[in-house]
Amino acid sequence: DTAALFEEAGGRRVTFDDVAGLAEPKEEVAEVVEFLRRPQKFTRLGGALPTGVLLVGPPGTGKTLLAKAVAGEAGVPFASISGSDFMEMFVGVGASRVRDLFDQAKERAPCIIFIDEVDAIGRTRGGPGGAGTGERDNTLNQLLVEMDGFDSDEGVVIMAATNRPDVLDAALLRPGRFDRQISIHKPDRLERADIFRVHVADLRLDASVDPEALARQTPGFAGAEIANVCNEAALLAARRGRNAVQMDDFDQALDRVMAGLERSNKLISPEE
Ligand code: ATP
Repeated sequence: DTAALFEEAGGRRVTFDDVAGLAEPKEEVAEVVEFLRRPQKFTRLGGALPTGVLLVGPPGTGKTLLAKAVAGEAGVPFASISGSDFMEMFVGVGASRVRDLFDQAKERAPCIIFIDEVDAIGRTRGGPGGAGTGERDNTLNQLLVEMDGFDSDEGVVIMAATNRPDVLDAALLRPGRFDRQISIHKPDRLERADIFRVHVADLRLDASVDPEALARQTPGFAGAEIANVCNEAALLAARRGRNAVQMDDFDQALDRVMAGLERSNKLISPEE
């Protein structure tokens, strides 16, 4: 049911404060927040609002988080679906689900539709891909139709994320579709320290814990991995019966997360 994809406003919303680093991307999406808050303010002279924003960057760098923060800051409903789920969930009905999703969105406008891994739907049409290729083409075509069918002041913004912009069908990037692209980088050392600070904020922390030192020990880490380290450290400390998470809990958590990364063959690229 596509209606269930919408998270209504209310409850704990993600805001820009939850997103560490990413200063430039935040600045770029701040404009989208303005559009969503007051669409008519911008369209009164006949201009059309942007409908599609594509976030491009490696896994775990906060693309989903940033899209949620845009919804949170604007106070609008947020629907999230991943391109690969879309293809799996809706085999044979992908195109009609796209239509449903957009109909729902129009009813809830202003709102945001977020499509993670949009490359799963949006690969160059007619390309290789074996089974399911025809289905994907239909789904992509429907997505294009829907994006073209918006009235400019409807206030539905489609945000999408990919780490494979090279395989996207060029039609998706035309004016009026995902014509705004924002690139999201892996965090540098200072940004990693900020991400650590965001994620230790909810923990009971010993004074020995030093976000700067943790940032130095984690070159190549994305935000998702940092969040994981913080959580592991808190679990380890609790298991050790401690009353606060200490730096050595983080050290051990780091070893674990790094071992996991090596196993999953994600190479940690040398940096700094
Ligand atoms: P994917 O491409 O794998 O879907 P993504 O870029 O969408 O990844 P998110 O799902 O937004 O990444 O990030 C996963 C989690 O990592 C977030 O929920 C958050 O806890 C943490 N995280 C990632 N980047 C940041 C950041 N810049 N600041 C704070 N937390 C972050």
